[in-house]
Amino acid sequence: MADAIWKEFELYCPVCDHTFKQLIVLHKVPKDYNLDKILADSIERHDHKAYQDWKAKEGQPKQAE
Ligand SMILES: [Zn+2]
Repeated sequence: MADAIWKEFELYCPVCDHTFKQLIVLHKVPKDYNLDKILADSIERHDHKAYQDWKAKEGQPKQAE
């Protein structure tokens, strides 16, 4: 009954122009939670800097030849 309920959402960060997966622990959120708000917060908390660094290092789009 008290199982952890994880749900994976695919979110889009407009700052990074990047879609990422975010696990949300649904049983931890308040009863009257607003999922949209949580998702929006998650996008806001996206670590843009870390992503940009990662992208600069190894996330270069592979050239399709
Ligand atoms: Zn971002």
